[in-house]
Amino acid sequence: MISWLNAQLHNHTTHSDGKDTVQQMVDKLSAGGARILAITDHNAVSGIPPFLKYCKEKGIIGIRGNEISSYYGHVVGLGVEDYLDWRYYQIDNPEQLFDDIHAKHGLCGLAHPIRIGYPLVPSCSWLYNIHDYSKIDYFEILNTGDWARSRNDIVIEYWLKKLRAGFLHLGAVSALDYHARPFHGHEYVTYIGIDTSETNLEQAVMSAIKYQRMIICKDKFINIYVLDKNNSIYYPGDTINDNNMELYIELDSDYKLHEKPIIILDDQNKKDIIYDFSGKIKIKEFSKFLVVSVYKNNTDFSNLLAISNPFKK
Ligand SMILES: [Zn+2]
Ligand SMILES: [Zn+2]
Repeated sequence: MISWLNAQLHNHTTHSDGKDTVQQMVDKLSAGGARILAITDHNAVSGIPPFLKYCKEKGIIGIRGNEISSYYGHVVGLGVEDYLDWRYYQIDNPEQLFDDIHAKHGLCGLAHPIRIGYPLVPSCSWLYNIHDYSKIDYFEILNTGDWARSRNDIVIEYWLKKLRAGFLHLGAVSALDYHARPFHGHEYVTYIGIDTSETNLEQAVMSAIKYQRMIICKDKFINIYVLDKNNSIYYPGDTINDNNMELYIELDSDYKLHEKPIIILDDQNKKDIIYDFSGKIKIKEFSKFLVVSVYKNNTDFSNLLAISNPFKK
């Protein structure tokens, strides 16, 4: 049985440049609804032991990690509890960093790849030359929710372009990139589908991210799934073989009453926009993958309510 849990996977504390202590970060984000939290301080792992201990006390699934931050860009090493020396990695060989993260059983998350860099925020933009996208596990397609700073609209297109180039394994997550700025509780959330009866929940979360069983939503959960003719259910990350399937999008009753949802379906070859959405759509044919986006009122980027990870053929 899959449960969809609210996750925030990119958070800083006083162990790097965050303003909250480990406990304050966990308290604030869990009060905002998070059930899964990662600690990803810049080039620092000293916060991990107190973080994991406090998460356990609070019943939160804690994910160890750190953000390997060099002059050429930032990579989240999710699941990595060892310090990796950021000074070692060269602009033409980020693959060395990806390999080192994998050697520590971590996942490589490309953090805010299009953010403005020098001279405004040196090192925050992505300058590394990537030669092998197969070594990246996921993109942060919505970082901080701040359009102007992180150019999330461009990042989503960048991610879709890489899916179309055949890198179907690339997951997508949101990231508060929490530094204790005001937290409103209406930011993007990555909902991760895990089996909560598993004994090692941290590992179950890591596996679900790798599997791409994730839906990013603005605050409230919107379930996006596919049923085949036998009522077997498919979630993002799953491979669908039948051509005669129905896509379901379960909007919160608030959305149904007040907003007119617009659905965008991206696959290998096209982008379909559906204006007359009634709760389910017949999907006859899609090529290679299907990413489902839900907007309210119009397709302005600021009206994005949810985006799925890819269903696959
Ligand atoms: Zn960063
Ligand atoms: Zn960060």
